[in-house]
Amino acid sequence: MKDKILAPELIERQYAYMARVREWNPEGLKAHILTFGCQQNEADSERIAGMAVKMGYTLTDTVEEADLIVINTCAVREHAELKALSITGNFKHLKKTKKSLVIAMCGCMVSQEHRKDRIKSSYPYVDFVFGTTRLYTFPEILFDCLISRQRKFYLDAGDEGNIPEGLPVVRMSRFKAWVSIMYGCNNFCTYCVVPYVRGRERSRHREEILKEIEALAKEGYREITLLGQNVNSYGKDLYEAYDFADLLSDICRIEGNYQLRFMTSHPKDASYKLIDVMAREEKIAKFFHLPLQSGSNRILKEMNRHYTREHYLELVRYMREKMPDISISTDIIVGFPGETEEDFADTLSLLREVQYDNIYSFLYSKRVGTKAAVMDCQIPDDVKGERFERLLQLQNEVNLSKNRAFVGKTMEILVEGQSKTDKNRLTGRSESNRLVHFEGDSTLIGKRVTVRITEGDLHALFGELI
Ligand code: SAH
Ligand code: SF4
Repeated sequence: MKDKILAPELIERQYAYMARVREWNPEGLKAHILTFGCQQNEADSERIAGMAVKMGYTLTDTVEEADLIVINTCAVREHAELKALSITGNFKHLKKTKKSLVIAMCGCMVSQEHRKDRIKSSYPYVDFVFGTTRLYTFPEILFDCLISRQRKFYLDAGDEGNIPEGLPVVRMSRFKAWVSIMYGCNNFCTYCVVPYVRGRERSRHREEILKEIEALAKEGYREITLLGQNVNSYGKDLYEAYDFADLLSDICRIEGNYQLRFMTSHPKDASYKLIDVMAREEKIAKFFHLPLQSGSNRILKEMNRHYTREHYLELVRYMREKMPDISISTDIIVGFPGETEEDFADTLSLLREVQYDNIYSFLYSKRVGTKAAVMDCQIPDDVKGERFERLLQLQNEVNLSKNRAFVGKTMEILVEGQSKTDKNRLTGRSESNRLVHFEGDSTLIGKRVTVRITEGDLHALFGELI
């Protein structure tokens, strides 16, 4: 089968542009990279940062001192789009005081024609825009902008996508790493814009993935998260008989003190084989994010999800049979077009049955170009809002009782950082992805520690080091 790996010459060409930008620019320039949206966007931003550093920029968190601003946008919901647009609007005044400032936008939002056009017409201080499949050409576009000072808009409408291997990367954490194993999506869930802005599903070669993880393990990374829109279809475009479960088994043979996570799994492709591998392999965190979206079979059909609530519940049953302590989380969309009170009751009843460890719930947001956007019976905002509240209330009760049940137990935590409000307190995450606060000093950041839980509230656990 044909892969989508870009020819090495194309990447070398970008390295040449990185060198040219470095020569062209005066020394000491700074870049500010702002990221919206999912982990895939964070991973993309780490590559943008990698290229920026190779081009001589140092990274800064302070936007006022930046000579280059890159805004990596999200399109999954309108809220994320509006936030990115409003922040971009705030950068207008910076350009007034610093004429040489370069402002670039990339990612999912600007990969839509109508958004690109809006930026062209209403945000004249944005110098260039590049779509998700043009990420690797950032150095060439930037060089062109620096020498010509002309505005440019690079989208590959209809592009099937590509895989750029070998780009430089600056990881934002020294102990948690993202590893994309595939890009794009073929599923066309009727509400979702992702397939339109990220192109078709394409898998990286297993050798490249294993090489990257070996290096991370050697560098001492403690947590490695494999990324893809639908990791369960990994390899389908490349191999006759090698799937995501095989990849996980192979990764687990790589030595190192790391825990392995993955997201996201689509229930239609989650296999018993995958669950068996998870149960068998110690390195894989016993945590499963399995987006449900709706508990109503009628709505699932309208969403083009290709599974039923019965199939979903069977997957959950099998997971719990194999891994009694597994934590399960999910995504729910409230107010999909045509959702009746009865459909919504099916979602609530499934939540009650599964007793999730966490849910991420979203108000349905109309996305231009998707099938659901033109469906009849769009749900009014007040109905959506009222259902959303009921959903939260139900899950809050579950969260609280689950978190309280941890009191007195011990758990291993990966220490992620200091608490924002109290320097003597640390926060970390358990294997099941629960947020835990406890007292300790900053030398523990990036390490695994054992904590006894003393208290649990709605959103977090509190404990003491032992
Ligand atoms: N590929 C992943 C999810 C990507 S988007 C998957 O299939 O699970 C992350 C979540 O955003 C989705 O699971 C869904 O719950 C939510 N989402 C996507 N499109 C949405 C929309 N139009 N309105 C509201 N929520 C949406
Ligand atoms: Fe969107 Fe569905 Fe693809 Fe997930 S699987 S990215 S929800 S189309």
